[in-house]
Amino acid sequence: MNADRVAVHGAGLAGLTCALLAARDGGAVTLVGGEPAGPPTELVLNEATVALLTSLWGEVDGHRLTGRWSRWGIDAGPVQTPSTALVVNEQRLVAVLAERLPDRVERAETAPPADWTIRASARPAGNPPVGRRVAITGYAPMSETRVSRMATTWRGWVQAVPLGDGRGFLRAVSPVPPDDPEDFLGAEIEAAGLDEWVVGPPERVVVAPAAPWLSRQRAEPGRLHVGGGVLRLDPLSGSGAGQAMRTAMLATAVVRDGRPAADLLGDYHRRLGAAFHRHLIGCTANYRTAFDSAEWAGELHITATALAGHAAQLHSRSGGPVFTGRRDVAAMT
Ligand SMILES: Cc1cc2nc3c(=O)[nH]c(=O)nc-3n(C[C@H](O)[C@H](O)[C@H](O)COP(=O)(O)OP(=O)(O)OC[C@H]3O[C@@H](n4cnc5c(N)ncnc54)[C@H](O)[C@@H]3O)c2cc1C
Repeated sequence: MNADRVAVHGAGLAGLTCALLAARDGGAVTLVGGEPAGPPTELVLNEATVALLTSLWGEVDGHRLTGRWSRWGIDAGPVQTPSTALVVNEQRLVAVLAERLPDRVERAETAPPADWTIRASARPAGNPPVGRRVAITGYAPMSETRVSRMATTWRGWVQAVPLGDGRGFLRAVSPVPPDDPEDFLGAEIEAAGLDEWVVGPPERVVVAPAAPWLSRQRAEPGRLHVGGGVLRLDPLSGSGAGQAMRTAMLATAVVRDGRPAADLLGDYHRRLGAAFHRHLIGCTANYRTAFDSAEWAGELHITATALAGHAAQLHSRSGGPVFTGRRDVAAMT
């Protein structure tokens, strides 16, 4: 490891993973800031994310799903596939992981002097999302116990995820924020034909931004941005938590590696750009098949514009910042 003092800002999944890995590498790690303060959210973790989480943190409890039912697209029929996933409450997960941090990770309210600062907190200003869509989430009684159900309507998509205790987690994505989120979520469940399994009205309904984004500030000398501090995926991908942990792993590899940091910072910057590019292509392919409204055409247009900008960057030799200034190199090595 070429630095010992690492300050991690943000105690979500990405920040905790950075703190864990940097401490395992022998760094003196300080975790700056408190617990997540957002509304309760259930994460549906696919097998790849569960495997990554387990390999880093050990076993994690949650509700096991065994199948996925989906009806995606205007004239599509339903498809049911065996598909295992783990549903965990994000706040509970973060609290459990925080208890597993090594003792020598210190907590502080303000940032101490550090060789590396890792920012795993909020989206930096000046980095707008690629689209305007929002997620409307809530809970409702649900008869299903092991199969998640997802379907499109003419307005967007909606998902019902059983929690195994007679309740389920509901999530709808719409290109337009609804005036009455509770009514909207109930109407989407009905329009999607999921009211056979969702047997009561939604409650604890909240609206959150759901469009993906990538920050231009990804890596600077002595400073790396990870998780929600740099990249957010559309919830449709189902791999946002896995991606947050992967950015944490990449960032700690940069901190650990003894090679000249300039190359590593450029590499980190480009890897995130490429991952985001692939994500936007996936969003376009899925949303284009399913929706033909003017609102979704707007989302696709914004995505196409962002993709064109990313493609230009990926194909140019200066696809990322170049860290060559003498001061930069001195600060980095
Ligand atoms: C609506 C929605 C649904 C999702 N569903 C899924 C899903 O089903 N499956 C999946 O795999 N992923 C999902 N994701 C993605 C997943 O939640 C995130 O990618 C992942 O949990 C983010 O972890 P994080 O640590 O990067 O960010 P967060 O969990 O947002 O953590 C950021 C932390 O920084 C703290 N903080 C904020 N500002 C500051 C500051 N100034 N100083 C210090 N600390 C600060 C916050 O309190 C918080 O603790 C979803 C995301 C959204 C938005």
